[in-house]
Amino acid sequence: MAKHIIDSHAHIFPDKIASKASVNIGNFYSLHMSFDGSVSRLLAEGEKNHIDKFLVQSVATVPDQVRHINDFIACQVETYPDKFIGFASLHPDMEDPASEVERVISLGLKGIKLHPDFQRFAIDDKKAYKLYEIIGDRLPILIHTGDSRFEYSHPRLMAKVLDDCPYLKVIAAHFGGWSEWDESENVLCGKNVWVDTSSSLYHLSPEKAAELIERFGEDRVFFGTDYPMWDAADELKYIDRLPVTDEQKEKLLWKNLCGFLNIDMD
Ligand SMILES: [Zn+2]
Repeated sequence: MAKHIIDSHAHIFPDKIASKASVNIGNFYSLHMSFDGSVSRLLAEGEKNHIDKFLVQSVATVPDQVRHINDFIACQVETYPDKFIGFASLHPDMEDPASEVERVISLGLKGIKLHPDFQRFAIDDKKAYKLYEIIGDRLPILIHTGDSRFEYSHPRLMAKVLDDCPYLKVIAAHFGGWSEWDESENVLCGKNVWVDTSSSLYHLSPEKAAELIERFGEDRVFFGTDYPMWDAADELKYIDRLPVTDEQKEKLLWKNLCGFLNIDMD
């Protein structure tokens, strides 16, 4: 058992839409959802699995939702300051993203989440570069990466953005390429990028996952469940089976994210 556990990739929703949101995500990916997307269920699962903290976020599929979502996330962080680290949503078609970035920083949110496939923009779209310039190195950006059905989030486009914007602190979710893990390994390993394990361990053998950790860098990989999709109990069993050292597991499960976001946890 690791000293601490942080789930670096959890989606949360207000209670009145949590079940529907979870069903919609499941339909989008044709994957079974373990839970509804409620805060109470996330906290209960965390309790059960000894997860100390969660990086929580949500995605605005239309520009109008951005402020509401960011207020909701900030409110949850304020309610559970020891449990939640909040990332904000932006939308490439929104008006005045610069002032929303200022606002979310003042609300205490610690990063930005973007989802090219839900938000229908290519990672290397001009509109996206505008966001990258505004965000700069002030906040890290968690970007959903990879979906073999769409071009928007292709790892190759992510590689281009990393080359063009070396100042960005990007977490390319799902080992940098959900359903495109080989592509991701080919074009993203060795770059200035961080990745998470979410929605990937069900597909990768323990040996392959260990190889990806080695190739991306043992300091650059974060544990994540993609709540409400996967059950943390199963995800932690996968981690347990990885042929990596105990110290590498501690890094993966909490130390790396603490370092990345300057969180104090001993
Ligand atoms: Zn996500």
